[in-house]
Amino acid sequence: MAVFTDEQKLQILTDLVAIRSVNDHETDVATYLQQLLGQHDIQAQLVPLSDSRANLIAEIGSGHPVLGVSGHMDVVAPGDVNAWSSDPFQVTARAGKLYGRGITDMKAGLAALVIAMIELHAAGQPAKGTIRLMATVGEEVGETGSEAFYEAGHMDDVDGLLIGEPTGYHIFSAHKGSMDVKLTSQGKAAHSSMPELGQNAIDPLLSLLGQANEAFRKTDRANAALGKLTFNTTVFNGGDQVNSIPAVATAEMNIRTIPEFDNATVTQVLQQLVTQENEQGSRVTMDIYMSQSPVEEPKDNALSDLAATIGATYAGELVPKLALPAVTDASNLLKNKGHNYPFIVFGPGNETAHQVDEYVDRQMYLDFTELYQKLMTSYLED
Ligand SMILES: [Zn+2]
Repeated sequence: MAVFTDEQKLQILTDLVAIRSVNDHETDVATYLQQLLGQHDIQAQLVPLSDSRANLIAEIGSGHPVLGVSGHMDVVAPGDVNAWSSDPFQVTARAGKLYGRGITDMKAGLAALVIAMIELHAAGQPAKGTIRLMATVGEEVGETGSEAFYEAGHMDDVDGLLIGEPTGYHIFSAHKGSMDVKLTSQGKAAHSSMPELGQNAIDPLLSLLGQANEAFRKTDRANAALGKLTFNTTVFNGGDQVNSIPAVATAEMNIRTIPEFDNATVTQVLQQLVTQENEQGSRVTMDIYMSQSPVEEPKDNALSDLAATIGATYAGELVPKLALPAVTDASNLLKNKGHNYPFIVFGPGNETAHQVDEYVDRQMYLDFTELYQKLMTSYLED
């Protein structure tokens, strides 16, 4: 049952983009959605994680199956505002496209999920099963929102998961994991004319990172959908004066993991390299300050098959099933769900996420508000 006109659906999206939830202030988004859901007889609960950050949870229907639907409420910073063609926090329409920060990633997806739930509820749907919305904080940095949902047990009884990240008419059931690691090497400063009086802190990292490049880049381990692990040193600092032996050096690395070479194995390999280095008198410590697991569910599953069929009627062409390059909240939400779980990432949007002049196609957004309703009910009734 249509509750909203197209104009009202667009207004909801405009309101959401106007809330500057740049990896914080998600409480304002959660409160807005709570009120919107409440106006349509759906109780939603804020789950505060700090003063300005709260997850949001809401349910319609009852019993099993339980379909989890999820979207994040934070956005990335707009960057150079002057580089934008229009105010990034004021949705602006040009030639069928709606521009704004976070509109593709992923306020359009979030709005479409909420609108779909409201319209289903108004129509007395779902006749069978439950739809549970889990709107998260901090997906762009830290993924603390999805971690909190997982820790609180909100995923325990969920039978299938849909994340509305921007994919457009493509369906994803797998993505790589991600790890951020920092190495700190302690040396001893000395005049560079008498290096024997000091200990060069950069040397151990050069050797260690060289070995790590070998270990991670020259491996045959690969995943059919995701390809190979990637390992990159992305930040390197050491020394402060050209004629002094450096006392401290640090390196930070980002690693994109696959199930065949997962976060635990990467940790083991790195730890071994550090231990070997320290056995030769170096003093290197390792800090893994972010670790998200890879996700891999079967390409063909109950949700992806339905999404492909329903999606094709809107796309006007086949909707391919692929693997996603970026990490999502699924790294947390799907912990312990095994490798045969109905999971998809499927939402309105495109590849302009995090870019200047980010946009979503107006019609695609409107279509997803309907498409989601068909997907949700057909999955639950299947
Ligand atoms: Zn996103």
